Amino acid sequence: MKKKRILFLISDTGGGHRAAANAIAEAIEYRYPGCYAVIISDIWKNHMPWPFCKLPGTYGWLSGAGKPVWQVLWKLTAHVHLPRFFFGMIFPLVKNPMARHLIALRPHLVVSLHPVMNHLGVKWVKAAALDAPFVTVVTDMVSLHPFWICAEVDHLIVPTQAARQQALQYGMPAEKLAVYGQPISLKFMQLSGHRREYRRRLGLAADIPAVLVVGGGEGTGRIYRIARRIAVSRLQAQLLVVSGRNRALKEQLEKVCWEIPTRVYGFAENMPQLMGAADVLVTKAGPGTISEAFVAGLPQVLCDYVPGQETGNVDYVQDQHAGIYAPQPEDIARILSDWLTPGNAAFQAMAGNAARLARPQAALDIAADLVSRV
Ligand code: UDP
Repeated sequence: MKKKRILFLISDTGGGHRAAANAIAEAIEYRYPGCYAVIISDIWKNHMPWPFCKLPGTYGWLSGAGKPVWQVLWKLTAHVHLPRFFFGMIFPLVKNPMARHLIALRPHLVVSLHPVMNHLGVKWVKAAALDAPFVTVVTDMVSLHPFWICAEVDHLIVPTQAARQQALQYGMPAEKLAVYGQPISLKFMQLSGHRREYRRRLGLAADIPAVLVVGGGEGTGRIYRIARRIAVSRLQAQLLVVSGRNRALKEQLEKVCWEIPTRVYGFAENMPQLMGAADVLVTKAGPGTISEAFVAGLPQVLCDYVPGQETGNVDYVQDQHAGIYAPQPEDIARILSDWLTPGNAAFQAMAGNAARLARPQAALDIAADLVSRV
């Protein structure tokens, strides 16, 4: 029997869209082995004409040093009536290459996991004369940009009740909405909670607590300064620093002669193992990383956030007492020293709160929902 095709539309802006797509693809294969062919297409980079194909490349800067520019862009575009007008203007310029891509693939279901592919996506499916349902899976946790919401999609999947409320405010019909949690890899579900064992497997000292420092897929934020401050404070811990796709950061970190045991990673393919080995996470407030840390039961120090789509994540983590927002490296070092003091009850409670927010099965639920529409 020929496999039915499910096309995921993403763009590698940050690591979250691809990580969510991979997680759902993994869950589809796990639940329905050999039944569906999932195609994950970075359409902005690979199928859009110049200059559109160059736009994703600017996100690393926009979410890092260019954050003030991003904040202005977000505010200027965050109006509920803008998407229809804005994407209506762009569509004639980007219609043909994507329609050709769709005609070549003839998917049985099209799924958008990116805010700029919903209004355009519905139009592309029509332009390609495809008889395929169109579903949006929102990968932002709490603060949704109106670009995510196109009332003409067949179905909209969001991670939290707060996101559902926003979708309703932006005009999404309630009967098209479902809430399942943030889709994360099933590998996080398999974490055993035996941190010493994960440390041993990674070749780390099993009995020394581990602090994992991450700046999202792009390695943004003051990761270097934070890691240095922690090391200089001679925290009784070992450091695992993930630089993501930020090669300059990796080179900078690798040149250091560290005061405490430290491992530097580039784009880590083993994030479940790293979280399994860690006692605490220092991270930018990315929805994927935060949700993975909930499943790993990790208290979080949120050191940074992208204004707009990540603003609400900071409140969410703090309101649920699963972590704290602390942008200053010296504060982070002090908080970690306090948290890692043996017997710290508040730290233990925070780990419990994080675990309570976990939705490890979200990708499986989303997989079942999507497949029911093929
Ligand atoms: N990630 C990874 N390896 C890295 C850095 C990040 O696998 O070296 C993953 C991380 O586990 C998460 C995603 O990339 O699944 C980052 O998504 P998030 O929403 O946290 O932030 P974004 O990068 O999209 O801003």
